[in-house]
Amino acid sequence: MNHHVTHLESALDGTRFPADQVHTMHQGRPLWVRYDLDQIRARVCPQDFARRPPSLWRYRELLPLPFEVEPISLGEGSTPLLACPRLGRELGLKRLFIKDEAQLPTGSFKSRGMTVAVSMAHYLGLRRLAAPTAGNAGGALAAYGARAGMEVFVFMPEDTPIINQMEAWLCGARVFLVNGLITDCGKIVREGIARLGWFDVSTLKEPYRLEGKKTMGLELAEQMDWQLPDVIFYPTGGGTGLIGMWKAFQELHQLGWLQAPHMPRLVSCQSDGCAPIVRAFEAGERFAEPFANAHTVASGLRVPAAVGDFMMLDAIRASGGWARTGREERIVAWMRRVAQAEGITICPETAVCFDTLEALLAEGKVNTDETIVVFNTGAAQKYPEAVPLSLPRLDRTQPIDYEALVQ
Ligand SMILES: *Cc1c(COP(=O)(O)O)cnc(C)c1O
Repeated sequence: MNHHVTHLESALDGTRFPADQVHTMHQGRPLWVRYDLDQIRARVCPQDFARRPPSLWRYRELLPLPFEVEPISLGEGSTPLLACPRLGRELGLKRLFIKDEAQLPTGSFKSRGMTVAVSMAHYLGLRRLAAPTAGNAGGALAAYGARAGMEVFVFMPEDTPIINQMEAWLCGARVFLVNGLITDCGKIVREGIARLGWFDVSTLKEPYRLEGKKTMGLELAEQMDWQLPDVIFYPTGGGTGLIGMWKAFQELHQLGWLQAPHMPRLVSCQSDGCAPIVRAFEAGERFAEPFANAHTVASGLRVPAAVGDFMMLDAIRASGGWARTGREERIVAWMRRVAQAEGITICPETAVCFDTLEALLAEGKVNTDETIVVFNTGAAQKYPEAVPLSLPRLDRTQPIDYEALVQ
C-alpha cells in the first residue's frame, strides 16, 4: 500500500499488528501507528509542507491514509497561533500564545481526530460507526460520518451541552441521551457491537483519531519554525490531544526536523470536579483509578476513566511536566478574562488551563520569560449553559439615561 505505515503496536506490551486491517485495541489498551521514518525523511523535508494547502492533510506522509485515497474532509484548516500580549502582561508573561482550535469545523479540535478516523474507517470498508461522547466528539463524528455517507450512532450523557445534541442530530446521526456518564455510554456502545455490528470510534479504542490529533503537534512545530515552546497547557479528558502531540514531537525529533532537541513540558489540566489523571500523577501511579462523582461544566473533561491513562502519565512524566487541577468555580471568570483581554472566546476546558497556569506561575514552576502555549480546544459558543448571563435591560418606551450606560 502507498503509505509509510510499517505496522501498529500495542502501547502496553509492543505486540505488533499489520497495517491496512481494521484494528481496535490489544488487551483492552490502545495501539500506536508506526511509520518508516527513514522513508519519510527521504521523501519530504519540513519546507515542503509550507507549499501545500493549509490543511492537516498536508502532513500526508505522517498520516495513515494511502496517498491515492481522498480524505473525508470538511476543509479543516491550520489553526492560528495567536500571541496574547495583553493577557500575558496581566499575568507577567513575556511570550504567551493561544493555539485556537475553536476555528476548526464543528468548533473544536475533535475534527482533527475524526477526519482521520472516519477517512480510515471508510477506506477499510466500515459503514456503521458508534461512539460515546461527552459532547464535541459526537458532533464531529456525526459531521464527518454524514460527509462520508456512513451511518452514525452517538450516545451522550443527558447533561451534554445542547449544541452538541443539536449538531449530531442535524448531521443525521441517531443520538441517544443516557442517564449516566461517558463511561456508561461507552458500555452501551461496547455491548452493542455484537448486536448491531457497528465500529466503536471511542477515544483511543481505534488507532487513528490519535493520528489526527497528532497534527496539532506537527502544526505547532511548523508555526514556530521547527522549535517547540517551553511549556504547553492542555485540557485533558480521554487524552488523545496530549498523547498525540507528544507522539508528534517524538516523530519530529527522530526525523531530525527540530531546530533544537529541547522538548516542551506538558501540563495536563483537569477540573477539580473530575481529575483522575492528576490524582494518579500525584500518587506516582501509571494507571488511574476511576474518579467517583465526576462533575464539571467542562464537558470534554468529564471523563472519569480513560483507557489511555498510562500513555498520558508516561508522556507528562517524560516531558518533565505536571498534571494539575484548575478550580471548577473559576471557569466562567477565566472565560471572560481571556475573551475580554484578547477577543478569543475560550471553552470551559481551556479556562481550567488558565487557572492551572496562574497557579504554576505563582509556584515558580513556570518562568515569566518562557514561551507558553495554551490550547483553546473548542469554541465558547458551544457552551451556552456554562455561562450564566444577567444582562441589563433597556426599555425603549422610556428616555435612555446615557450617562448610566458607561457606569
Ligand atoms: C474532548 C475535549 C477535550 C479533551 O480532549 P482529550 O484529547 O480527549 O483529552 C478538551 N477540550 C474540549 C473542548 C474537548 O472537546
